[in-house]
Amino acid sequence: MHVKSVNLETVCGITSTLPENDKIEIAFAGKSNVGKSSLINALMNRKAYARTSAQPGKTQTINFYNINEELYFVDLPGYGYAKVSEEIKAKWGTMIERYLKSSKQLKLIFLLIDIRHEPSANDRHMYEWILYQGYQPVIIATKLDKINRSQKEKHLKMLRKGLNADGKTSILPFSALSKQGRDEIWEYIEGIMES
Ligand code: GDP
Repeated sequence: MHVKSVNLETVCGITSTLPENDKIEIAFAGKSNVGKSSLINALMNRKAYARTSAQPGKTQTINFYNINEELYFVDLPGYGYAKVSEEIKAKWGTMIERYLKSSKQLKLIFLLIDIRHEPSANDRHMYEWILYQGYQPVIIATKLDKINRSQKEKHLKMLRKGLNADGKTSILPFSALSKQGRDEIWEYIEGIMES
């Protein structure tokens, strides 16, 4: 995909009305600091359009990026940031649930997990929850450059096992540093746009 234009069109807080978009939506979920902004920026070919986490967990908004007037990237707030209050965590849950339940255009949810570590309890919950809402999550294993090339398959297996994911779940490795995996992720998105 040649990204010609990017526009942060809508930012939704906890009480905002969610937009009723007329183009398909691709959502990105993951623990705070997993590399979500870096991935979104890399896919959009922008250096720092999506926020990067100077203050992780602080921004509890759902951001809609209009790409080429063709589709939306939906940046869901990062979860699992230890320092936010229970109240904020509960709000976070309500907000994402409201979005997953109400969006008519949501076609794909990428769940980002750091390739280095076993999925956390929050990651497993999120994975299960996406399935429960009727979506097939696609995992993006982030920070690929942080592990040795020879360890890649082992780590991908660890993620699959940790999530208890079956063969239907794709796991796509990605590095924001080398941009490795970027084209494969775009191919995945384009496949969804064509279907
Ligand atoms: P977010 O909180 O999920 O949006 O995470 P960010 O994209 O802000 O990334 C969190 C930190 O991890 C930042 O310091 C990034 O530079 C770093 N980071 C993100 N992706 C990668 C990656 O693929 N490789 C490496 N080495 N660092 C990364």
